[in-house]
Amino acid sequence: MVEEDKNNNRKEKECVKQEPSCESHGKPLELFCEENSCRKALCALCMTEPKHKGHNLVAYEEGTTEAKIVLKELMEHSELITKAWGEHKIKLQLDVTSQQNCETTKAI
Ligand SMILES: [Zn+2]
Ligand SMILES: [Zn+2]
Repeated sequence: MVEEDKNNNRKEKECVKQEPSCESHGKPLELFCEENSCRKALCALCMTEPKHKGHNLVAYEEGTTEAKIVLKELMEHSELITKAWGEHKIKLQLDVTSQQNCETTKAI
């Protein structure tokens, strides 16, 4: 029984490959779909699928680098958005203060 288990373990290890392969087809990843709705690595079979028709496909290595850049850009954007929101809040507060000032002026 114990020896059988050992054999099974060895078989599993042999099956594990270092190269990234397609989850659906088990083929090596060659391309990267740049389409915003996809943004994933594809194998030669994936790119023949109708869902990637008209999508911009680039070499896998290139694509992963670009994907990283896009991620970085997105993160920088979110920082900008947070900043913008902060400024917006300050503006809102200013508006409220100026309105209050108006009311006090009227009262006088
Ligand atoms: Zn595939
Ligand atoms: Zn696609």
